[in-house]
Amino acid sequence: MKYSYLLIASLVLNSIAFGQADEKSRAMNKPIPPFRIAGNLYYVGANEISSFLITTPKGHILLDGGFVKTAPQIERNIAQLGFKIEEVKILLNSHAHLDHAGGLAELKKKSGAKLIASSGDAEPLRRGGRNDFRFGDTLIFPPVEVDQIIADGESVRLGDQIMTAHLTPGHTRGNTTWTTKISDNGKTYDVVFAGSPTALDYQLVGKESYPGITADFEKTFSVLKKLPCDIFLSDHGTFYWFLEKREKLLRGENPNPFIDPDGYRRFINHFEKEFHDKLDAQRRAAALSTRAPE
Ligand SMILES: [Zn+2]
Repeated sequence: MKYSYLLIASLVLNSIAFGQADEKSRAMNKPIPPFRIAGNLYYVGANEISSFLITTPKGHILLDGGFVKTAPQIERNIAQLGFKIEEVKILLNSHAHLDHAGGLAELKKKSGAKLIASSGDAEPLRRGGRNDFRFGDTLIFPPVEVDQIIADGESVRLGDQIMTAHLTPGHTRGNTTWTTKISDNGKTYDVVFAGSPTALDYQLVGKESYPGITADFEKTFSVLKKLPCDIFLSDHGTFYWFLEKREKLLRGENPNPFIDPDGYRRFINHFEKEFHDKLDAQRRAAALSTRAPE
């Protein structure tokens, strides 16, 4: 499976460049039936905007809230799987953009869950995306209170389930990659929920989009490369070939198509190259513009 480069670029840029009501966003927010990925890990998101439920006897963990308009889908999906939204005790977020954090306020209200986020993204969540370092006040969502700040390498525990935060900043200041372990059919798998590693149209050279953004991206790729990964997931379906894998799983393919360590490495390599291409292009442009006129 190869990335359709243009498709991803256009999906991601459009998801960021427009509100949720536009055609491109609606195309990413189509309802699909929820299903079990492996063990106690379930998919409860839309066709492209991902959201995951990890269930435990002590309550459940929900990762990502989608757009404002994804929240009712997520609630329906949780109910359709036979779980209750009120049993969700912990809400997590990949990053504070409107296509992954837009539904959090509603989901928090319905569940009464505690929202745990990194310090870098807690403020944008509380501000509802206002005063974004790139988008200003153009991509706002309902503000949501963060109850607990999680630091790099710290874990959240619910029952026997442990979710660990790995800060992978750049796409947002507090962009977070979560990891956990899931047992299925007597085997235990390392699961990576990779936060978006895309540099969009950010300024990486000269006056950076935020001070240190380029160093943050470099750090992010080295962090991602070190994480052990069997089951590879992310916040956008296209990042991990979600729809194809879902079809294969529902057809009964064995081994589970979501077990994809090679895909995880291809994902990192693809976006690391994309980042360095952007960086190189911006460096060349900066060198040209500072050259003395002849
Ligand atoms: Zn984003």
